Amino acid sequence: MTDWRDYLERARAYHGHLCSGQILGLRLVLKGLALLGLDPAAPQRDLMLFIETNRCLADAAYVVTGITLGRRRLLVYNFGKAAMTFLDLRTNQAFRVAARSDIRPDKSEKDLVAFWGRYDDDQILSVQKVVINLRPEDRPGKPLRRITCPRCGEDVLDGRDTLVQGQAICRSCAGEAYYQIPEPTPETTPE
Ligand SMILES: [Zn+2]
Ligand SMILES: [Zn+2]
Repeated sequence: MTDWRDYLERARAYHGHLCSGQILGLRLVLKGLALLGLDPAAPQRDLMLFIETNRCLADAAYVVTGITLGRRRLLVYNFGKAAMTFLDLRTNQAFRVAARSDIRPDKSEKDLVAFWGRYDDDQILSVQKVVINLRPEDRPGKPLRRITCPRCGEDVLDGRDTLVQGQAICRSCAGEAYYQIPEPTPETTPE
């Protein structure tokens, strides 16, 4: 049985400090792998991760599994929650593991490793068996779909385009952009 303490140094090095988020994250990820019967020491070829935060906890997923965003085996749904779902692409089995909210060290706690070491997994984590209906375009592998947006001329892969009046365009052009392009400001002459 892999011990989360074996990953503490790697977590500290990768994340920059050792915090409760790292420790909870390591335990949560090891729990997820154990539920799927996956060996943490083996390369994770069939594992896909759905992470519900972009805080500390998310880094622990990389530290344990080595899975990176660019390999298409990690999706971030930033719901602001300390939770992740672990999907085995081979069997389609999936488990969502979340950190329970009732146990937290208070600010004066000096030894976080000892603090979290006092609790069993069932005391700090909750587990749900879930079903993930992964779209074919979201599976790892070559892009199944590519369009060129007729409005901005940029390519859109993986079915991330959207239909507007029967035309496939990119989401930015469809009004879903997360950015604005500022209006050009008229030159002001200093007085
Ligand atoms: Zn942290
Ligand atoms: Zn566009």
